[in-house]
Amino acid sequence: MSAGRFAPSPSGDLHLGNLRTAILAWLFARSSGRAFLVRVEDLDRQRSRPEFERTQLEDLAAMGLTWDPPVVRQSERDDLYAAALGRLTTAGLTFECFCTRREIAEAVRAPHAQPGHYPGTCRDLTPEQRDERRAERSPAIRLRADAPTWTVRDELHGEVAGPVDDLVLRRNDGAHAYNLAVVVDDGAQDVDQVVRGEDLFEAAPAQAYLAHALGLPEPTYAHVPLALNAEGRRLAKRDGAVTLRDLSPAAAWDLIGASLGVAARSPEELLAELDPADIPRNPWVIGS
Ligand code: GLU
Repeated sequence: MSAGRFAPSPSGDLHLGNLRTAILAWLFARSSGRAFLVRVEDLDRQRSRPEFERTQLEDLAAMGLTWDPPVVRQSERDDLYAAALGRLTTAGLTFECFCTRREIAEAVRAPHAQPGHYPGTCRDLTPEQRDERRAERSPAIRLRADAPTWTVRDELHGEVAGPVDDLVLRRNDGAHAYNLAVVVDDGAQDVDQVVRGEDLFEAAPAQAYLAHALGLPEPTYAHVPLALNAEGRRLAKRDGAVTLRDLSPAAAWDLIGASLGVAARSPEELLAELDPADIPRNPWVIGS
């Protein structure tokens, strides 16, 4: 069955913006007859904490959200990511990259470099050059992207083309990268609708391209507006009473319902009241 999902990283409590994104992901999925999954994106071992995984799931349940089991954890799915990376490598779609961050920063300042993009330094090393570099530093693995741009379909933004980069798929410490995991998981879990915050909008074309390179169906997206604080910056925990540690679920529903222009105070009421095509397109400014 096709599915939508909410995929939080367990690195802190969910704030009102995250809860609203989760509720909207649920709404998009359920209003289109899809399953709704929750996936714990805990690949970042430094920042992920089991206690946040627990409180995040408790908070989603306290808001009245339900999801289809099981909840999967990325830290337990390394074999799947390694197999996908192996397929790309067999197809000639990866290369070893020995660059340090500093080397990349220096190379992208060069004339003609595309800002924010991998400058291609290690794309075409000879086997001898690679052997030499490997003796000094273990490589990251990057995607050998062969399309400059890729077009995605977003329910709120329409058809949008964006640049595709030689994404890091495995870091030089051996950890699989978020971009690989997210695409492999969405494919493996039959997720064909990706609803998440607008901060990831720019990541979508390269992720959709990667899905294509892996022979996976490309999902449709809905990048929903972010919550901002009164100064116009991304909402953060320090912005006051913005998590369920300080707010009751009823108070959180009051704020989220008002931000969506509806009287709904539960997921089911929201489903009856709001067509996802009508959700407000502007950022949600809290505390102004
Ligand atoms: N785990 C990511 C985050 O919490 C979301 C990734 C996604 O939805 O694709 O920012």
